[in-house]
Amino acid sequence: MSEVLNVEGERGEVRDGYRWVAQVCPVCRVPPGKYLGRRGGAAHREGTGVECRIWRCGRCSLVFPNPMPVPERGEVLVAAREAGWEAVGIDPSPSFAEYAERRSGAEVRREPIERCGFPDASFDAVILAAVLEHLYDPDTTVGEIARVLRPGGALFIDVPNEAGLYFRLGNLYQRLRGRDWVVNIAPTFEPFHVFGWSPRSLRALLAKYGLTPRDWRVYGGRSMVPRRGGALGTLEHLAARAVTAASNLGELGTYIETWAVKTGAPADTP
Ligand SMILES: [Zn+2]
Repeated sequence: MSEVLNVEGERGEVRDGYRWVAQVCPVCRVPPGKYLGRRGGAAHREGTGVECRIWRCGRCSLVFPNPMPVPERGEVLVAAREAGWEAVGIDPSPSFAEYAERRSGAEVRREPIERCGFPDASFDAVILAAVLEHLYDPDTTVGEIARVLRPGGALFIDVPNEAGLYFRLGNLYQRLRGRDWVVNIAPTFEPFHVFGWSPRSLRALLAKYGLTPRDWRVYGGRSMVPRRGGALGTLEHLAARAVTAASNLGELGTYIETWAVKTGAPADTP
């Protein structure tokens, strides 16, 4: 799946249990324009995750690692790529599917929506709760959702807003400390956030498939920086809380939530 998005013929080197593959913007299909900085591993306050180079698309502002670390282990690879439909954003593993099936009594498919072969216009609503940021091929998944939604049907999405105040000030703070770290794409360990969405990139993706946001909310949510020992750790925690509170203004919140209604034919892709 992600081979479509990666530079043609590029298989990427294998290092630290990941295949490192050149990544283009899945919305605009162009290479990323601006390098933001490093994330994860040596560039994380707790040393968590694998070190990535984080870039931003010059056209739609989507944020993502380039090269993209794709887990080499077969099961995780498949799971990460298939985290869309049946997992409902929590866990695509067979054990979760079984649990969900037992608990809900509903059928839970163990394959990505692209492979389910649902008929056109056969769903009233689709929920992608905390899913989109984990998908390696969000463009294909949302395109398929638009196909199976009936006209007037709705897609729910919530994702972190990587153009929000929290990320902007977080990156600025790292610069002020003399580091080239970024706080985008959290966390850099499994289950990964692999693409960092913003109001602009999310609207671009939805518009591409004739999906019109009806309810659109950008909000602060809870602070993402846990309390840590020491004066600096406490200060970082309090600053993050203040930023989160302030970010409820405008479109600077840390999260985006929307119901997008299928209103039209897909726009021509660039
Ligand atoms: Zn883009």
